Amino acid sequence: MTTSSLTGRPDQARSGPAAAPRASALAPSRIRQIYDAAQSRPDALRLEVGEPDFATPPWISEAAHRAAHDGHTHYTSNTGIGVLREALAAKVRARNGYHARPGQIVVSAGGVQALHLVLAALLDPGDEVLLPDPCWPNFNMIAHLVGARAVPYVLRPDRAFQPDPAELERLITPRTRVLVVNLPSNPVGVCGSPADLAALVAIAERHGLWLLSDECYDEITFDGPILSAGAVSDYERIVSVYSFSKTYAMTGWRVGYAVAPEATVEVLARMQEPFVSCVNTPAQYAALAALQGPQEIVCEMRDAYRRRRDLALDVLTAGGVDAFRPDGAFYLWADVGRSKMASLDFALALLAARDVAVAPGSAFGASGDDRVRISLATGEDDLLEGCRRLVGFLDR
Ligand code: PLP
Repeated sequence: MTTSSLTGRPDQARSGPAAAPRASALAPSRIRQIYDAAQSRPDALRLEVGEPDFATPPWISEAAHRAAHDGHTHYTSNTGIGVLREALAAKVRARNGYHARPGQIVVSAGGVQALHLVLAALLDPGDEVLLPDPCWPNFNMIAHLVGARAVPYVLRPDRAFQPDPAELERLITPRTRVLVVNLPSNPVGVCGSPADLAALVAIAERHGLWLLSDECYDEITFDGPILSAGAVSDYERIVSVYSFSKTYAMTGWRVGYAVAPEATVEVLARMQEPFVSCVNTPAQYAALAALQGPQEIVCEMRDAYRRRRDLALDVLTAGGVDAFRPDGAFYLWADVGRSKMASLDFALALLAARDVAVAPGSAFGASGDDRVRISLATGEDDLLEGCRRLVGFLDR
C-alpha cells in the first residue's frame, strides 16, 4: 500500500479498487484487443475494424467549418438543432418508409450513444434484454452497464442467420423488456425480409416488449431496398436507431439519432442532459449538410462494398473457406472452424504469423467462436491480400 506524502495516511485512491464492481467487471471488446495488438505492427493488413476507408465528403467538413465560423459553437437543445430534426424526419419518411415527426427524434453522439440512451431508458437493473448472438459487442457492454441481463437468441447458419421465432419466444420471461433487432446486421450482414421483420415485431407486441431496431447500416443494402421496423408495423413501442458514421463515412464526427414515440423522447431528452447535454454543434451542421448534399456518394460507397464483397468471397470460396454472402452492412462472417482454434487464438495467431488483423467471432457472442469477421470497409488490395493470407494460414 502506498502512503500519501501530504497526509501520511494510506493512499486510498491507489490502494482501493479502481472502480465500482459493475464497471470493473465490464469485459473488454475483443475487437479492440486485436486492434491494440495490430497497432504495434505497422505493416499489418487491418480487416478488423468496421469503419469506412473513405474520407468524409468535403462539403460535409466545410459545413462544420462554416458553422463554427458563423458562431454555432454553443450548446443546443438536448434533442438537437431543430433544422436537423426536421431533415431527419423527412429522411425517415423518404428513405425508411414510415412517418416520423421532428418531435420523435433525438440526435445522439453516434448510434452507440443513442443505443445506450435508449436501453438506459427502457431497462431497470435486473430486467432482461434479448440480443442476437452473434451481435455487435457493444450491446452486451451496454446491457452490463445498465445492470440488465442480456439473453442471447442464436442466429444459426442453417437458418441463414435468421432468428427462429419459436425459439426466441421461449426465451421471454416476466422480466423481459426489450427485443433488440439489428438489420442489416453486424457481423453477419443479413438484411431479412419484411415478413421476417414483421414477425419479430409481432412477438414484441404479443408480449408487450419494446422493439429496439438498430438500423445503423440502413443505407448499405446490396440487393434490396432499405428495411425498417417502423415501415412494417405500426406497433407503438418501436424505437429505431440510425447513424451518420457508415452512410457518409463520418465515424469520427459522432452523430446518430433515435426515433421514438414522443412521450419516450421527452424522457430521452431529460436523460441526454447528464449523458452528453447535446451533440457537438458543428457536427450537427455537418450532419445536416450530409443529408442535404449530393447523395451519389452513398451509392458509390455501397457499390464499392458490393464489389469487394464479391471479390473477397471469390478468394475465400476458392480457398475452401465458407463465408455468408451478406446482403448489407460491410462484413464477411467467415468460418475458420477447420483451424480447430478458438477464434481469439486464431485471430492473434493470424496476426502474428501473417500480419492480418481480423475480428474474432467470439467478440460477437458464444455462437461465433468458429468464425472471424472480415471488414469490407478496407481498400480492395489489402482486403484481397488479407483473404489470401487467411486461406494460406488455414492451409499451413
Ligand atoms: N450499431 C451497430 C450494429 C454497429 O456496428 C455500430 C458501429 O460499428 C453502431 C451501431 C454505432 O456506430 P456509431 O456509434 O459510430 O454511429
